[in-house]
Amino acid sequence: MQRYGNYIGGEWTTGGPYQPNINPSDLNDVVGEYAVGDAAAVAAAVAAARDAFATWSLSTPQQRFDVLDAAGSRILARRDELARLLAREEGKPIGEATGEVVRAGHIFKFFAGEAVRAAGEVVPSVRPGMTVEITREPVGVVGLITPWNFPIAIPAWKIAPALAFGNTVVFKPADLTPGCAWELVKILEDSGLPKGVLNLVMGPGSVVGDAIVKAREVDAVSFTGSVATGRRIAVACVENGKKVQTEMGGKNPMVVLDDADLETAVAACINGAYFSTGQRCTASSRLIVTDGIHDRFVAALTERMAGLRVGHALDEETEIGPVVDQRQLDQDLEYIAVAAAEGGKVYGGERVQRPTPGFYLSPALVTETTSDMRINREEVFGPVASIIRVPDYETALALANDTEFGLSAGICSTSLKYVSHFKRHVQAGMVMVNAPTAGVDYHVAFGGRKASSYGPREQGSYAKEFYTTVKTTYVNPG
Ligand code: NAP
Repeated sequence: MQRYGNYIGGEWTTGGPYQPNINPSDLNDVVGEYAVGDAAAVAAAVAAARDAFATWSLSTPQQRFDVLDAAGSRILARRDELARLLAREEGKPIGEATGEVVRAGHIFKFFAGEAVRAAGEVVPSVRPGMTVEITREPVGVVGLITPWNFPIAIPAWKIAPALAFGNTVVFKPADLTPGCAWELVKILEDSGLPKGVLNLVMGPGSVVGDAIVKAREVDAVSFTGSVATGRRIAVACVENGKKVQTEMGGKNPMVVLDDADLETAVAACINGAYFSTGQRCTASSRLIVTDGIHDRFVAALTERMAGLRVGHALDEETEIGPVVDQRQLDQDLEYIAVAAAEGGKVYGGERVQRPTPGFYLSPALVTETTSDMRINREEVFGPVASIIRVPDYETALALANDTEFGLSAGICSTSLKYVSHFKRHVQAGMVMVNAPTAGVDYHVAFGGRKASSYGPREQGSYAKEFYTTVKTTYVNPG
């Protein structure tokens, strides 16, 4: 079995312990054995990042462009191999996995451009003779902590801007998906990144993640994951004066109005609720449907659900891969049971057997639910959606906003009046019109409101808000 070490100060570690990375589509398939780091490994990684910051922070935009551009090219050239690895370790069907890898490549290309586009401002002072320069500088050593559900895209959208703007990095991927993280770091090494600029420490969040958050020499932390962990991290960072950005959960509403195109609405909900096995922070998990279309919509949606092919992530025919692990599967089944106990009517949501042993679950839809039921208040993070039936648009909007979350929100309607009103009044960081709540572009801002996000937005030109600090310089020519 191949073993994969951590990457600290430009060296791959060789000592143990290691743990197996198991394929959720086939529990007999071990992807590899990956190092389990500890607080000492984090301390070494932080020291290496601190040393490397002295030179990387002063590197030319061209140097940073060259590394990021080369990394993007390597990712794109190896898309099939990386997509197979992603599908094997996370369970995302191979088509979606390929899409995620391509997106990671595009992210590196985009931030290569951002490195050379970085600009400042020169403005006249209000005082005679003086000018004012506003420039951006890197923040310092950045700790990056990522979840398992986008094992290459999320690391890419944190690492690429961190490096583009001259920061150095200590990176901790999710324990469940170290494979893509390891390959990504190797690609950056092969692309000419100087030693110490990017350090990889794999291992459990409670040990490795915690040590990164508490390290005195870490200047900023970018985290994506659950609300509970994100809030703890934000508090610890604020207490220690670190810059922090946390992207967390969602309970994203999809409003379907009487005047919606039925086919468009069903396609958006199937994709939004069930693709990626519903394991997306932007999943369309709360479907809020008006009376006039409700019954036709439920009939069409359940018919389409029955035809969805659940199977091995490497099978080209598969539309819904396995759930990521036993813990997540138990959580999904528990939420389905609670929804039924609270009065919901459940379609699907059953364990299914496939030729290989894996965490297979058929997509679930819970109808006849109300906004106060747990299924509509808490994030399930699986192939489980619920329907709330409402009399009109006004009630739909009120219930769309009746949640602690505010990541993404969608509306299916052909009415300009309702769509325009919804875009302005729904409390979410991202709004989708006649499209799934999930599935975003790589070159524009990503993030939410309320309990879903804290701190500046990620991605696109907005990424610089987190990965740079502003300096204002006053010049008196004398
Ligand atoms: P999680 O359990 O919060 O873990 C996220 C990361 O934090 C993992 O790397 C984890 O390490 C680490 N971690 C755990 N405990 C920690 C601690 N005490 N200190 C520091 N780090 C710690 O979340 P997950 O189950 O991986 O991901 C699912 C969640 O992510 C869902 O809520 C989903 O909505 C959210 N998500 C949000 C976005 C977004 O952009 N808004 C995108 C994708 C996912 P280990 O796993 O190795 O223990």
